[in-house]
Amino acid sequence: MTDFHALPLKPALLASLETLGYTTMTPVQEQSLPPMLQGRDVIAQAQTGSGKTAAFGLSLLQSLDVDTIRLQALVLCPTRELADQVSKAIRKLAANIPNVKLLTLCGGMPLGPQLASLTHDPHIVVGTPGRVQEHLKRESLHGGGIKVLVLDEADRMLDMGFSEAIDDIIGRIAKHHQTLLFSATYPDEIRAVSQRVQKNPVQITVEAPAEAKPAIEQQFIEVEPAQKPDALAQLLGSERGQHALVFCNMRREVDAVAQELDHRGFSALALHGDMEQRDRDEVLVRFANRSCAVLVATDVAARGLDIVALPLVVSYDIAHDPETHTHRIGRTGRAGQSGLAITLCSSRERPKAANIEELTGTPLPWRPLKLAPARGLPASRGKTLHLAPMKTLVIDAGRQDKLRPGDILGALTGEAGLDANDIGKIDVFATRAYVAISRALANKALERLRAGKIKGRNFRVRSLG
Ligand code: AMP
Repeated sequence: MTDFHALPLKPALLASLETLGYTTMTPVQEQSLPPMLQGRDVIAQAQTGSGKTAAFGLSLLQSLDVDTIRLQALVLCPTRELADQVSKAIRKLAANIPNVKLLTLCGGMPLGPQLASLTHDPHIVVGTPGRVQEHLKRESLHGGGIKVLVLDEADRMLDMGFSEAIDDIIGRIAKHHQTLLFSATYPDEIRAVSQRVQKNPVQITVEAPAEAKPAIEQQFIEVEPAQKPDALAQLLGSERGQHALVFCNMRREVDAVAQELDHRGFSALALHGDMEQRDRDEVLVRFANRSCAVLVATDVAARGLDIVALPLVVSYDIAHDPETHTHRIGRTGRAGQSGLAITLCSSRERPKAANIEELTGTPLPWRPLKLAPARGLPASRGKTLHLAPMKTLVIDAGRQDKLRPGDILGALTGEAGLDANDIGKIDVFATRAYVAISRALANKALERLRAGKIKGRNFRVRSLG
């Protein structure tokens, strides 16, 4: 069943599909539309380009009753850009249903005009969590009649710290509603959200096309200890090195390698069990939000790391046992992206390599590494050649100060005038908050945040690294 006509869709929707030239369903649509049209909760793993917007758009328009002037469908998106795209797509699908009122409500836009257009309830709202929450709180928006709630790109919304806002929104809308959750990845947090907010959901995972399946390439390089720093720097200098995890067996070595990389101009940080919890949190935040390019860690410390699709993992020393080795290489090549796992192995470490070979039963893929002529180290000191794309700002306030991600996003996109695209992950802890900003704009953001206010108050803000 791949033809839309096989679905019990309103003739007006079939007509729109015809105008748009959508004849056959995409795999996500084929699997999600039947249960969605039956009113079931659905959790679907779907990326941009999969046709997910049309899937939930058709479903919410099918159950819409235009004659009832109430808010019936709410779509939450991580960014204004996505909310605009989704609104456009739904408007096109609704083109043949007269009088559908759809409103886009996003943060970073003045509140006044939004309040003015809310004098009559719209049928559909597409927006970002912070602003939608604000309207529900002010009662400028009424959620009592909502039949369908869509969480689009749910993984990104969690990354941006919208989890609390979403929970609060759900507490303010009709108890009985259908929840449709779309997410490109399924980390544990997404499963937890689904369990919290969905009832017996139908789970849909669309097989990624064969070429998009995670593929891990392994390389073993024989290099003596004295050359390891040069070898590592050379490997990390490649494009994949922009987000890489380096494993060492010992804490001492973790610190030494991170320091050496720092000297050579990499934004690198160390992570090991000797560090205070607060420092560990900070390092993990900075690596996850892309303001640290290289994380050097012990196996134990890296266990808590929840980062998808690292393009490169390097074993600076070979793991003591094959199981640990397998664990390490499994940190790359996730979520449909290929990964590269490189192991540096000295002649003394050869027996450990032989163990791995024996256990896997396949010859190890050794490759030579020709070291580039020495550049008179540390030649690159101070030049910082391999900077991460983002920079982290720390705000000395957090949940205890009732600071929410939306407040930070609002201050940056509003008063500070930044574009939402230049703002990365926002993490709010009890007493501190971190926000990643595109490196080139970080100083501007810092100045603006210092000069302006967040949620009407002045907090201390500083930049890391
Ligand atoms: P999305 O994954 O929602 O971002 O959509 C990806 C693109 O596919 C959009 O440009 C849609 O217009 C288009 N599209 C969605 N469904 C179909 C379909 N059944 N046939 C052809 N194109 C589609």
